[in-house]
Amino acid sequence: MSVSKLAGSIAESPTLKLNEEAARLKDKGEAVVHLGAGEPKNKAPINAILSAAAKLNTGDIKYTPSDGIPSLKKAVVRYTEENYDKIVGPEHIMVSQGAKQALFSLLFTLINPQDEVIVFAPYWVSYPEMIKMVYGVPVIVTPEDGRFIPTMKDLEPAVSSYTKAIIVNSPNNPSGIVYPKEFVAQLVEFCEKKGIYVIFDDIYHKLVFDGIVPPSPYQFTKNDIESTKVITINGISKLYGMTGFRIGWLVAPKQVISVATNVQSQTTSCTSILLQSAAEGALTGLQSAVESLRLTLQNNRDVMMSELNAFSGVKITKPNGTYYCLPDFRAYNGNSVELSKFLLKKALVVTVPGKEFGMEGHLRLSYATTVKDVKQGVERIKWALDPNSPNEIYIGERKLVRDWL
Ligand code: PMP
Repeated sequence: MSVSKLAGSIAESPTLKLNEEAARLKDKGEAVVHLGAGEPKNKAPINAILSAAAKLNTGDIKYTPSDGIPSLKKAVVRYTEENYDKIVGPEHIMVSQGAKQALFSLLFTLINPQDEVIVFAPYWVSYPEMIKMVYGVPVIVTPEDGRFIPTMKDLEPAVSSYTKAIIVNSPNNPSGIVYPKEFVAQLVEFCEKKGIYVIFDDIYHKLVFDGIVPPSPYQFTKNDIESTKVITINGISKLYGMTGFRIGWLVAPKQVISVATNVQSQTTSCTSILLQSAAEGALTGLQSAVESLRLTLQNNRDVMMSELNAFSGVKITKPNGTYYCLPDFRAYNGNSVELSKFLLKKALVVTVPGKEFGMEGHLRLSYATTVKDVKQGVERIKWALDPNSPNEIYIGERKLVRDWL
């Protein structure tokens, strides 16, 4: 079989692969604890369901404009104004098949072959692959000493005349860290001065803990939406736990939106009107679902922190938001792919290797699950790795004895 060099070089999404592996083991009746998931266990908000059901009942399910139905775009305009304090119009919004497609269409719109796009490690697994898919060059900036917070000192040496854009994801998947306001302010100012696009993947921006408010990047620019270099990406997947509805959006200057919409019109035509109706229902309905998800996540984060703090050798930076944390397991194994495989085999716990996020020696653990799974998951990891923990454990009905330490 002959496939293109580029397509053949694109890695599989390790997180989606792990979801499939976990589902396969569960189907076989194995007592798997899934700490790899990027989605919570909630049901979709009722307003989203009613809105999609009402649309379905009309039987009038047809194509929509490529950039989204006007009523959803209006809801996104209001969302942007309320949450980002930025005046935008429908011509600054493009609705996509999830934030993932919004980002891909945007990169396709902005990047010429060999243009460089800077990504801060740890990064969401899809950024480098997507940059490569549009013939761009990913340039990874890793903060010193395993810190998860970049500084301008880390960034500046990576910037060249080829730098076209910088992607920022804060609250961050996988570390859960929110970048400090000072850094975001400096970054926006720097990019606007240099004419570099700064793309904020804000998909977790409301899922933050301990009273932290992530800064709106627009507050650091005097430019209006037409002339700013700030672009934001958002969606309903994480905010409402509506991952399967596949709706996200892009907020950018009109010209960027218009070209990105052409790209989208020639690839997917549009996203389903049913799912756009659901997103509109979620955005315009009661927002209590977001607060309830946020509180659940904060509580689960606390449980995971207390479990991990009692795990000798594991170093953990407390997350300020998202579904995840990224503990350092180098005291046990510096090879995160090997470690993750070992934990799945011996302890039936799904984790995601830090290597996939540009942070070798770490594992991404998700607390977007039940408290029981968070506790059991960490307990099993401890059993598998820590010689000071009891050497017997119950996994499902089976009593297992550790015989490898
Ligand atoms: N950005 C980040 C940082 C994510 O974690 C994810 C989902 N894992 C996405 C984008 C994609 O979101 P969506 O489901 O809206 O495509």
